[in-house]
Amino acid sequence: MNALNTLAGIVGPRNCITEEADLGPYAVDWRGSWRGRPEAVVKPASVEEVAGVVRAAGAAGLAIVPAGGRTGLAGAAVPTANGPPSIVLSLERLNRIRDLDARDFSLVAEAGCVVQTVQQAAAEAGRLFPIQWGAQGTAQIGGMLSTNAGGIRTLRWGNARELVLGLEVVLPDGRVLDDLRRVRKDNSGYALRHLFIGGEGTLGIITAAALRLVPALRRVESAFVAVPSPDAALSLFARVMASGAEVIGFELCARFCMEMAARHGTGLRMPLPLNAPWYVMVEIAAAHESVPLRDMLEEALAAAMESEEASDAVIAESEAQRAMIWKIREDYPDCARREGPAVGTDTAVPVSAVPTFVNTAEAELRARWPEGRMAAIGHAGDGNIHLSLHAPEGWTDRPAWLAHAAEMEPLVNAIAVSLGGSFSAEHGIGQSKRHAMATHKNPVALDLMRGLKQMLDPNGIMNPGKVLP
Ligand SMILES: Cc1cc2nc3c(=O)[nH]c(=O)nc-3n(C[C@H](O)[C@H](O)[C@H](O)COP(=O)(O)OP(=O)(O)OC[C@H]3O[C@@H](n4cnc5c(N)ncnc54)[C@H](O)[C@@H]3O)c2cc1C
Repeated sequence: MNALNTLAGIVGPRNCITEEADLGPYAVDWRGSWRGRPEAVVKPASVEEVAGVVRAAGAAGLAIVPAGGRTGLAGAAVPTANGPPSIVLSLERLNRIRDLDARDFSLVAEAGCVVQTVQQAAAEAGRLFPIQWGAQGTAQIGGMLSTNAGGIRTLRWGNARELVLGLEVVLPDGRVLDDLRRVRKDNSGYALRHLFIGGEGTLGIITAAALRLVPALRRVESAFVAVPSPDAALSLFARVMASGAEVIGFELCARFCMEMAARHGTGLRMPLPLNAPWYVMVEIAAAHESVPLRDMLEEALAAAMESEEASDAVIAESEAQRAMIWKIREDYPDCARREGPAVGTDTAVPVSAVPTFVNTAEAELRARWPEGRMAAIGHAGDGNIHLSLHAPEGWTDRPAWLAHAAEMEPLVNAIAVSLGGSFSAEHGIGQSKRHAMATHKNPVALDLMRGLKQMLDPNGIMNPGKVLP
């Protein structure tokens, strides 16, 4: 194909992959749920090359699917199965940290930088890039921003969006929007960068970002707590929030989730025997060594035990124990995947509604699919609970379970929305939640989104078949 020769001319033949075997990993998503074969995988190494690839692909009528670490959970970084001919534009070679200014508490990273690399660079400068989640060793800055990722520290520092000072973006017509500034205050018109954050590659390609850093944490304390109910967990949350410490993580996990982690995790050791219905992982921190964090946590937990909001608790005694608590949480998605077929959701509700949400969903799922096993785990401190319905033990036919429990996702989404929540908390829409956009997204908002898409990408070449219903 002539167009592929042109693309190979821009990035170099070695960086324009067309061999079937090499295309394979780019043709399927992390969960193995979404497949679509690209014509080529193109790997530019500079902004100019990205712009050249976008222009050449557009001229040849090829759609462009941007790809970062390909850890997304919504099927957004693979071409659609029956879509137009596409290339995957992988940002992996655009991976320099262009600048780090510790006094400015900022860092400029290219889109293909792995999130963990950015965290390490910040740490070496005595700063913290505070976003954190299980796929951070593979996910890239461009993917993190395009999905507006959350993770376990959202309750303290917000989603990815809140850590962005400026962006550099290649638009669908090949122009470069250079808004890569580190200035904290700028009210000169519309905040255009926010269109691309969470845009899932449908409006342009992020090539670099100026990111906000925060002071490094000098003291951290974590605990693993057994609680009788989501309600009790919420009371415990209020207690630790009022303890005077910075609460940087508060996860709620059903016992079934911890059992899956214990069963399938490699080298995971549970801090407590798994005999309570629910567990909480809590982390508090301070940027100064003198803050009596340990006392604060002990006091909050003792009061929680006294009030029967907690039945047992372990405070990590060493860095290794602390790391183990969070490794259990971070390895959980992989462990759940190994348990067998499941239908999953990515809902958020106001924090105060978490217990009602979980209890209502549990009752409805039990009534409708008594044979299913409900897993509930999530970032309770920001209201984002992931509910899944697993097939009964021994059920291996994934398509059959997905068909059998297909109504689970709309049911859970509807409960979340009825409580003032969202059907898409942190993973994005991609292909997997387009149907829910049609059901739940405000029609005026959808109209505006379609108008913006038409204005920026009139030929519809950017990641077609994603986000918009
Ligand atoms: C084990 C595991 C745990 C996870 N836990 C969490 C969690 O706690 N919180 C959370 O929010 N997410 C979580 N995720 C989801 C995932 O890691 C995030 O969505 C992540 O931000 C995706 O980054 P990525 O580089 O892998 O993006 P990809 O999967 O490659 O792409 C995601 C989307 O971004 C677009 N894109 C990628 N790069 C660019 C770019 N440079 N410009 C424009 N568009 C681009 C793609 O086209 C696609 O639409 C988890 C995933 C796994 C596998």
